[in-house]
Amino acid sequence: MSHQYLGSCLCGAVKYQISGDFQSFFLCHCTRCQKGTGSAHAANLFAKGGVLTWLQNKDDVKTYQHPHSQHVKSFCQQCGSALPTLIESIDSVLVPAGSLDSPVPIRPTAQIFVESSVGWLETLDDVPSYATLPVDDKK
Ligand SMILES: [Zn+2]
Ligand SMILES: [Zn+2]
Repeated sequence: MSHQYLGSCLCGAVKYQISGDFQSFFLCHCTRCQKGTGSAHAANLFAKGGVLTWLQNKDDVKTYQHPHSQHVKSFCQQCGSALPTLIESIDSVLVPAGSLDSPVPIRPTAQIFVESSVGWLETLDDVPSYATLPVDDKK
């Protein structure tokens, strides 16, 4: 039996539901995902045979298909947030992990395209961490 997951974009215009189960959770370090996310890697869940239902403002969802590749990204045209995409060629729904409002149910299953990984991700152990935005206590 399949589970149901809810998600939305940052501005709240777009809401969606996924019915299905996630088999894979890839952290993708490819250069396209670096451009598309503005960060070090994408974090995408895949639900084979999953059903994607737009619950609100489907018309705000735009999809970018990168030429001559399988790279595809859906996003809210109001706020730019990454959103799910049905990839028919593999009968799977790609779900950006950060777009889920439901808890992410599985741990990452693989890191892919690590040959493109940014150098600055590797040495974070000595970088200070803050629970929220750090307060500037320097005089
Ligand atoms: Zn939005
Ligand atoms: Zn990628």
